Amino acid sequence: MFFLVQYITSKRGKLLILCNGYTYFEYQSQSKHSGKILKKRWICSTHYPKGCRATIVMFEDEIVSINDNHTHSPLYNSIL
Ligand SMILES: [Zn+2]
Repeated sequence: MFFLVQYITSKRGKLLILCNGYTYFEYQSQSKHSGKILKKRWICSTHYPKGCRATIVMFEDEIVSINDNHTHSPLYNSIL
């Protein structure tokens, strides 16, 4: 399956990623190497507080792992 990822900025100026109509925010950074964060975990930005556990893990801006098992429909259009 092909996933197109776009970087977007929320109304509050926060960096988000957009993938298949869902938005994710950066949750936790790991694997710092020479002060540079290489691995990033992104979680569902709209429904994480409501129990959605969809996650994207990126390493050097490439997706290494994705769980797009959302508990809801894509909401991107409604937050524009
Ligand atoms: Zn979700």
